[in-house]
Amino acid sequence: MCDACGANVTSDQMAMVGATSEAGRRTRQFHALCFRIWDNERHLLDRLTA
Ligand SMILES: [Zn+2]
Repeated sequence: MCDACGANVTSDQMAMVGATSEAGRRTRQFHALCFRIWDNERHLLDRLTA
């Protein structure tokens, strides 16, 4: 399941998996496009809270 949009990530879709340091290192899985959006927002939040 995609962590950004909540839809299933199937093997024919590009899935990105990343471990984050937040909240106990759970693994996240995204569609490639969703990952880019999520990653952008993550960097924006980092900048806002820094
Ligand atoms: Zn998605």
